[in-house]
Amino acid sequence: MSETKQCSNCGETKLLDLFRSRRNKCRACESKNSRAWAKRNPKKVRQIKNSARGKYLEKARERTLLSTAVLSDRYVKQTIHLASGLPYEKITDELVNVKRKHLQILREIKGKQNDKRSKNT
Ligand SMILES: [Zn+2]
Repeated sequence: MSETKQCSNCGETKLLDLFRSRRNKCRACESKNSRAWAKRNPKKVRQIKNSARGKYLEKARERTLLSTAVLSDRYVKQTIHLASGLPYEKITDELVNVKRKHLQILREIKGKQNDKRSKNT
């Protein structure tokens, strides 16, 4: 059994992986709150975006998006870890390859469903 924790914001009990370390709010609540903060502070957001750290974070975000798009080993491993609670060192290359195929099939199915939906509307 994976460990769980209760979010101090939404009150839901979630897997520890869904929290940043030593935080009491789940990642979903943190991201919701930070989006709300960004909306209230557009000036500060611009300052952060133009700072060296902001530029670094933007690059990191692009790398993550790319990693998701191409189903990199790192991304697939993370997906397995979050879904099963299996520790990273126990996730073998074979398992990663099988999971990558699985994700590709899921994406294909999702793509087809979206095609159908757009044809029907
Ligand atoms: Zn929450």
